[in-house]
Amino acid sequence: MDNLDKIIKNLSDNRDLPNDAFIALLQNNDADNTLFSAADLVRRKIYGVDVYIRGLIEFTNHCKNNCFYCGIRRDNKSAVRYRLTKEQILSCCTEGYLLGFRTFVLQGGEDNFYSDKTICDIVSSIREKFSDCALTLSIGEKSKSSYTAYYNAGATRYLLRHETSDEIHYQQLHPNSMSLQNRKRCLFDLKEIGYQVGSGFMVGSPYQTTDNIISDLRFLQQLNPDMIGIGPYITHAQTPFANFKSGSMALTLRLIAILRLIFPYALIPSTTALGTIHPSGRELGLKAGANVIMPNLSPAAVRKLYTLYENKICTGDEAAQSIKNLKKRVEATGYRIITDIGNAKKEI
Ligand code: SAH
Repeated sequence: MDNLDKIIKNLSDNRDLPNDAFIALLQNNDADNTLFSAADLVRRKIYGVDVYIRGLIEFTNHCKNNCFYCGIRRDNKSAVRYRLTKEQILSCCTEGYLLGFRTFVLQGGEDNFYSDKTICDIVSSIREKFSDCALTLSIGEKSKSSYTAYYNAGATRYLLRHETSDEIHYQQLHPNSMSLQNRKRCLFDLKEIGYQVGSGFMVGSPYQTTDNIISDLRFLQQLNPDMIGIGPYITHAQTPFANFKSGSMALTLRLIAILRLIFPYALIPSTTALGTIHPSGRELGLKAGANVIMPNLSPAAVRKLYTLYENKICTGDEAAQSIKNLKKRVEATGYRIITDIGNAKKEI
């Protein structure tokens, strides 16, 4: 057996590898097909061919933070800003519900216009009206008491990518006002409160090394999240990183497969960013082990304005309204979209 094949078998059997084996796997494309098949086998054993869908509502693009990579950072003066009202958010959910969505994800910049009271009011209204649905928040770093309040109002899932688990790399991607320590504190607080937690990182972000990626995998092993979102970093011209190149699809797919083998039970989305760098990116993500897709439910008028990165897909099959086309594409890839609240399966 070839060395990489042995490494893949070892990873499938043990859900872990020594660092040098992870490095070999990350730096070679020779065994990609074997790696993707191994990941697909594991996902089929646990999730069959099911693909869970989440309706993504990007409800504000105002942000007090200034992350160097992000197109909606505070200092991007050319960003056209918007906020959705509670009524607008609820009507997105109504539309999504009719389309078959049973999970709504409220994502936004860190926007203090929405007080904890307002967020709790929006959360409880959604839960009241759509009692058979789950609600996920993705609104950044908050205090433990805020997270607790949202949880008590009915939000049971929270997405907060750690972005990078290396201190130096973290500071290369963020201004001094932000810290990896606080990001991690948030993630552990969320877990302690009882949320199903999602974390993750960008692939190919500026200054990222293979060692950084290994640290990301190690951090995820420590956190043991229910959901893991990764996607390629994509350059945005109105950021300090305008001259950096975007991350690659190949490395993102390899990492999805590796994550599936380390975390057989995880919910792993095939992300919008992956669909943005390649027309079949999301299908290829599914084949590499991903099992979640998050179509866009934001009102058409604001969808273009939530530009974390350039050329973000938002009007084609990415739109929740095109769910029929998406279903066909997913079926053509060998999987099936299901209308379900879609909790992570647990090891018995
Ligand atoms: N304010 C929320 C939501 C952030 S947007 C929070 O802090 O969690 C969601 C994710 O988009 C981020 O976590 C980041 O990983 C990703 N993202 C931001 N800019 C990006 C870029 N230029 N390319 C690819 N992904 C990006």
